Amino acid sequence: MSLRELYQEIIIDHSKEPRNFGKLMNANHHQAGHNPLCGDQLMVYVIENNGIVQDIHFEGNGCAISVASASLMTETVKGKSINDIHQLFEGFHYLVTQGQEPVVSLGKLAVFGGVAEFPVRVKCATLAWHTLKAALANNVDPVTTE
Ligand code: ZN
Repeated sequence: MSLRELYQEIIIDHSKEPRNFGKLMNANHHQAGHNPLCGDQLMVYVIENNGIVQDIHFEGNGCAISVASASLMTETVKGKSINDIHQLFEGFHYLVTQGQEPVVSLGKLAVFGGVAEFPVRVKCATLAWHTLKAALANNVDPVTTE
């Protein structure tokens, strides 16, 4: 199995069985995100304490890329500081737009490197991240990629 196929498998797995899926009771941040171009709709719930994301869930529906990205994002950012999360988002954005590994280590998020070949999918892959960022900033307006 090539690395590319392995990455594909991970994305399919997370899109079919998203981790940390469903409402999070006691969330002290939540935000809705929408990608009208594709129809992806997400809700991100966060329990943040002293700048650390202690727990995070999401719910919603969308294409395989948007759901898998939200699922892998929740796994990756749990237990991390808001500063670390901003760095991860920058690195992830670089990966899906440039198709190259950033300086910051992305771990499993590297599976989305192929997205760079499909610019229309970049918004699907980054929707959850934009939504998380807005949730942590306590933005009132729902996120839209348009
Ligand atoms: Zn999508």
